[in-house]
Amino acid sequence: MSINSTNSKNFSKLKNILIIGNGGRENSLAWAIQKNELVKKVYLIPGNAGSERINKCKRIKIDINNLNELTEKLNFLEIDLIVIGPEIPLANGLADFLRKKNFKVFGPGKDGAKLEYSKSWAKEFMQDANIPTANFWKVNSLEEAKKIIHSSSIPLVVKADGLASGKGVFIPDSKDECLSAAESIFNGQFGNSGNVVVLEERIQGPEVSVFALCDGKRYILLPTAQDHKRLNEKDKGPNTGGMGAYSPTPLLNKDYLNRIIQEIIEPTIDELNKRSIDYRGVIYFGLMITESGPKVIEYNCRFGDPECQTIMPLMDQNFLFLLEKCSMGSLAGNEKINTPNKVSGCVIATSKGYPHEYKTGFPIKIGKIDSSDTQIFDSGTSLGKNGELLTDGGRVLSIVCQDSNFDMVFEKAYKNLKEINFDGIYFRNDIGHQVRKYVSKEN
Ligand code: AMP
Repeated sequence: MSINSTNSKNFSKLKNILIIGNGGRENSLAWAIQKNELVKKVYLIPGNAGSERINKCKRIKIDINNLNELTEKLNFLEIDLIVIGPEIPLANGLADFLRKKNFKVFGPGKDGAKLEYSKSWAKEFMQDANIPTANFWKVNSLEEAKKIIHSSSIPLVVKADGLASGKGVFIPDSKDECLSAAESIFNGQFGNSGNVVVLEERIQGPEVSVFALCDGKRYILLPTAQDHKRLNEKDKGPNTGGMGAYSPTPLLNKDYLNRIIQEIIEPTIDELNKRSIDYRGVIYFGLMITESGPKVIEYNCRFGDPECQTIMPLMDQNFLFLLEKCSMGSLAGNEKINTPNKVSGCVIATSKGYPHEYKTGFPIKIGKIDSSDTQIFDSGTSLGKNGELLTDGGRVLSIVCQDSNFDMVFEKAYKNLKEINFDGIYFRNDIGHQVRKYVSKEN
């Protein structure tokens, strides 16, 4: 990656960086950020057991909801830039608070995070800006939902309006299933996040992820990606937080990406501006490529996981400068991201039972890893009494590899996975099947 007219002297105060969050996403951000030679320390609140294996990284134990203690600590550490990973602190207005305290923050304020934390708001936003998306109905009660479901001739998708850790979307195959999904949301399955329900026309097509780094007015795009949300091979089974991803996706050639820019990305930025929302962070566009063109399935106000782990190794040390420019509203908008001539893929190793109930605390054994262009980012791990690495989440490790083509990427990733073991380890063998010639059936 090279950035036009980038002069590192302009960024000399980027010694201490803070990342908020505890997943594979945050570890991969830390890994990309520490590459910058100006950086002395990357702090993670709270990070996880893998964070301190990354060069220059240190975890901090502090409650981010204790705002006085947090501010004092950040002043003491002389933090130059804060990157907020997850959606919940963004939806709670942490970026607004820290900006008021004069910190530079990469992450939208509460107004911008609404793109993610209210699906009905996001749908109305798209409607106002004429952005292509599935038709929808916003309903405030089960009675209203029933009327629409009964009168609809097409199958409807049912969504809780608010944040639900990726579990608030139902894709029913019958009216009865549709009704029972609406019923369970209104009965409180997701607490207040289900006070409002969005019913949506079900659309078809492959899904792609596009990320725009945004400074409030201008934006630049990161390499595109595709992830695998379903638990099982052949993209079957329940939805998960993500079982793997690859970048870039060959589905989006230059012309199609231009169409997405014209029909979706620029109208989104314009609409944010129209509403005086100064969005300084990443906008994730979850898109479906339908027969009638690209449509927005959802916005996120953060980097996707595992797309982030997949894309970060394609960034060079200038990535940090882009984050800082976004935080300051000073993107030129024409910065070029020159990725190495390589593609990247990620396979997630999960705990048995995920995304439902699973056990944690199993020792993780890592054998001889082929470390060339390979990263292992911890997603859900902790350290045992004797410093041993233990499973501590549904998604445990992100195994990421780069190479000149996807066959080589995934050959290396799966070879490395043979060296990794813990009780109940599960991963899909067919991540990236769309871009691979040969997909093995064994696990
Ligand atoms: P969301 O959390 O809104 O991204 O939804 C999770 C997943 O549900 C998406 O990645 C899609 O696979 C699927 N989905 C959501 N909305 C629709 C829709 N209107 N039509 C078809 N599939 C959908």
